[in-house]
Amino acid sequence: MTKINEDQFAAAGQVIAGGVNSPVRAWKSVDGDPVFVSHAQGSKIYDSTGKEYIDYVLSWGPMILGHAHPEVIAAICRTAQKGTSFGAPTDAETNMARLICEAIPSIERVRMTSSGTEATMTAIRLSRGYTGRNMIMKFDGCYHGHADSLLIKAGSGVATLGIPGSPGIPEALAKLTLSLPYNDLDALEKAIERYASDLAAVIVEPIAGNMGVVLPENGFLKKLRELTAQNGIVLIFDEVITGFRFCFGGYQNLIGIKPDLTCLGKIIGGGMPVGAIGGKKEIMERLAPTGDVYQAGTLSGNPLAMSAGIATLNILKEKADSFAALTDRANGLCWEVEKLFAKRGIAICINKIFSMFTIFFQQGPVYDLNTAMQSDTRLYARFFHGMLENGVWLAPSQFEAGFLSFAHTDEDMDKTLADLGNTLKIL
Ligand SMILES: *Cc1c(COP(=O)(O)O)cnc(C)c1O
Repeated sequence: MTKINEDQFAAAGQVIAGGVNSPVRAWKSVDGDPVFVSHAQGSKIYDSTGKEYIDYVLSWGPMILGHAHPEVIAAICRTAQKGTSFGAPTDAETNMARLICEAIPSIERVRMTSSGTEATMTAIRLSRGYTGRNMIMKFDGCYHGHADSLLIKAGSGVATLGIPGSPGIPEALAKLTLSLPYNDLDALEKAIERYASDLAAVIVEPIAGNMGVVLPENGFLKKLRELTAQNGIVLIFDEVITGFRFCFGGYQNLIGIKPDLTCLGKIIGGGMPVGAIGGKKEIMERLAPTGDVYQAGTLSGNPLAMSAGIATLNILKEKADSFAALTDRANGLCWEVEKLFAKRGIAICINKIFSMFTIFFQQGPVYDLNTAMQSDTRLYARFFHGMLENGVWLAPSQFEAGFLSFAHTDEDMDKTLADLGNTLKIL
């Protein structure tokens, strides 16, 4: 922590609540003040003293092309020249929606928002309006943005109704959210059996990324699709992280499961504030103005956001064959990381899928929130600071995902492993 950074955080704290505009940025769970960023380019991010880091956070997922990709930046600049917001329809919105519908077959209609939170919040309201039911089900450790109904603490056991995960969420509302352990088929079947006729929707991260990476076990998502279909419950895949992360489409494309609604965000905005909800025409047309479920946004479909998103998706479409190489690079990195930790005699468990991974500081296996919580978070914090010191920017929490971008190079991998070697010496 340099004096410059200390001053910056202190100054921010004088005028911004907690000094940050989103809590994870405050680095509370790893101790120490956050490093302030000045700029970023490709796989690198730079702090205000000019120090360079290899970035594995990538703005929490969106920057799959690397920072400041020239084509994305050019698209934003071209668009900005022509005005930055109209509050009226543009062709860019149609083009964006067409790209999404093309890429994800379960999506017949789209509505753009300005954040993932708005997308999931809309998905819940729409499901309730469509089914005429009030309850929703989610899974412990999944994060779906900060809307009231979705910010419910890990429940314990099938019959446990949600309790407020935050002061300010009325208990009457929290009671309508059921939270079950991820990957627990037994709990799932029992809960559906008991609450089926009251459940409007089940929302799930098809790959969980917000308790660290946790993969769905064999049959979990398939069972979820079967049970929701049988009981007239709307199945919502929250693909805000996983959308366009593994292929030109969602994770659903790769497993052949079609949810009723899909929430997107992060990558589809190319680094601009964006979210989207899409799905079956029959459900989506219930949104105003065709339908009676209200949803709106002054800046929804914003020209700058659309131009960054369209540029990003078009590049990803061209690169569709390169996702495998990205996966190979991530596999190679994780394999070497495992070897280095083993040599040092520190137990870790790496959960990974394609270009997304978490190093859990424990033996594992990690398959739900309870098992994730058994990690040694203090050791993770020391690891985090060691890596940072050496020039590697990792998530400031054990319970987050790491990402690779197309801008990461073999040299980045080599340097990361060398930095890891140095960090392990003092860990
Ligand atoms: C980030 C995230 C959200 C919320 O998106 P915001 O743009 O931060 O509102 C929702 N769901 C998942 C799975 C996310 O990772």
